[in-house]
Amino acid sequence: MSEDFITMTIGKQKNIALIAHDNKKADLIDWCEQNKEILKQHFLCGTGTTARMITDQTGLPVRGYNSGPLGGDQQIGAKIVEGRVDFVIFFSDPLTAQPHDPDVKALLRIAQVYDIPIANNRASADFMIHSTYMNTEYEHEIINFKKNIKERSETL
Ligand code: PGA
Repeated sequence: MSEDFITMTIGKQKNIALIAHDNKKADLIDWCEQNKEILKQHFLCGTGTTARMITDQTGLPVRGYNSGPLGGDQQIGAKIVEGRVDFVIFFSDPLTAQPHDPDVKALLRIAQVYDIPIANNRASADFMIHSTYMNTEYEHEIINFKKNIKERSETL
């Protein structure tokens, strides 16, 4: 692989972000309950309300950021950029307009840029959580942002 990319490692213990829009919260909590034994082995965080409800209803420890409409999705996006979130389960609601739609789009985009696994519905989440990569490290290629800045600053 050329130096345009650098190899990053998603560890064996993942940093998993959990987010659900209001109509999908019950579904995500049920999914967390069903997959509790696996989720226990990883570090969990989430948008404020989702995180609190998962902890209250399943007992799983979930570090809560701000509520989604108040910037929680952006906080999780920033953690992806910093390499502190490397796996996202986001049960979004495709049938309801969200006031923070730009933030949601930004999170999806940044997850794509950093090649982060992200599930937007239950079937995708099931396939991801039962992947053999859940028990191993996973190496992937990320844009070499330092080289990118050096080149841009020299050529623009
Ligand atoms: P919430 O945010 O967990 O605070 O409800 C989720 C969202 O709507 O993005």
